[in-house]
Amino acid sequence: MEDIILNAQSLKSVIHCGAGAFATYATKLGGKLFIITDSNVYALYKGLIEKTFGNAPTFVLPAGEKSKSRNSLFKIFDKMIDCGVTRSSTVVALGGGVVGDIAGLAASMYMRGIKVVQIPTTLLAQVDSSVGGKTAIDYKGVKNVLGAFYQPSEVIVDPLFLSTLPARELRCGLGEIIKYSAIDCGIYGTLSQNSDKLFDLKFLENVTADCIRHKAKVVTEDERDTTGARKTLNLGHTTGHAFELYYKRKSHGEFVLIGTYYELYIAEKKGICESCYADSLRALITKVIKNIPAYADAEKAALMAKFDKKNDEQSIVSMIVPKSVGESYELKLPIAEYAKLIGECAEKIRGEKC
Ligand code: ADP
Ligand code: ZN
Repeated sequence: MEDIILNAQSLKSVIHCGAGAFATYATKLGGKLFIITDSNVYALYKGLIEKTFGNAPTFVLPAGEKSKSRNSLFKIFDKMIDCGVTRSSTVVALGGGVVGDIAGLAASMYMRGIKVVQIPTTLLAQVDSSVGGKTAIDYKGVKNVLGAFYQPSEVIVDPLFLSTLPARELRCGLGEIIKYSAIDCGIYGTLSQNSDKLFDLKFLENVTADCIRHKAKVVTEDERDTTGARKTLNLGHTTGHAFELYYKRKSHGEFVLIGTYYELYIAEKKGICESCYADSLRALITKVIKNIPAYADAEKAALMAKFDKKNDEQSIVSMIVPKSVGESYELKLPIAEYAKLIGECAEKIRGEKC
C-alpha cells in the first residue's frame, strides 16, 4: 500500500493505493457519512457496504451514464436533506466514473461544499476520473457540461473491486492506462516489457499506482487546466471524443484507444512521431482492441472534433499526439485537413484488413 499526495491549491488530497486500502481506510472515515453508489456495485457489494459503513444512508443510482443527470442530482439532494446531512458530513462516492462525477458535484454544491471521499470501483475511475477533482453531470445532451473542480479529501483505490469487473470495463481502463504510457516513459517501459500481462490484475495494481502518481503530479501543477500541463492527459481524446459523439456504441476508454490509433497516423504523417515508436504504441493498443474499426465515414465523424472544448476556434482542431518516449506534442490543424487525414487512416486500416 502507498499514499500518494495530490497537493492541489484548493485542497491537499491523499490517495491511498493498493490491496488492503479499503479495509484500512474506509473503516476509519469519521463523522456522519452519506454513501452514493450505483445499482450494480450495490448488488455486488451490499454486504461489504453495510459491514463497513453500518447504517449510513445510501443512495443507489441506476447504473449507467444516463444517471449523470440533473434529475439524479436533485434526487441526491432530496435524500441528503431528508437524512439530515450537515456541513460536517462526508459524501462517499463508491462506484465507477458516473458515481464519482455526480457524487463529487453533489458534495461541491451541498451547503456550498462538504467533504467527499472517492472510492473508485472501476479500473478507469481508479486510474483517471477519481483523481484530480473534476466533477460533472451531462445536460441537454452535452457530456460533462455542468460541473466543478472539487478535490476529494481522500481517494481509496483498492484492487479488491476489480475482480468483479467485466472484461470490457477492464479494456476501458486500459484505454487510459495506454494513454499514460504515451506521456510517461516509466509507464511506457513497464507496459511494453509486460504487454502479455495487460489483463493480469496483480500487474494492473502496480501500473494503477504509476498512473495515479503521474496524474497527481500533473494536477498539482495545473489544477484547473489552465497552464497546459493537464492538457497532456487528453492525448488521443480529440479523435476519441469525436468518434464517441458520432458512433456512440463503444465506451470512453475504447474510444481513447481508437482515437490514439488514428492520431498516431496523423503524427507520423506530419513527421512528429517516429515510425518505430508509433509501431510500438500501436502494438500495445491492439493487445486491447484487436480490430481497430476502419470506419467508412471516419472523415465525417472527425468533423465532430469541432465541438471539442480544447479548441479556441471551430476551424482549427487541437490534439495532443505522441512524439517520442515520454514526450507528447500539441498539434493544431485546420479541421478539413484533420478530417481528411482521419479518413486516410481508415482507408489504410481497411487496406491492411484485406
Ligand atoms: P466508468 O467506466 O467511467 O467508471 P461507470 O461508472 O458507468 O463508468 O461504470 C461502468 C460499469 O461498471 C457500470 O455498469 C457500473 O455499474 C459497473 N461497475 C462499477 N464498478 C464495478 C465493479 N467493481 N464490478 C462490476 N461492475 C462494476
Ligand atoms: Zn479519458
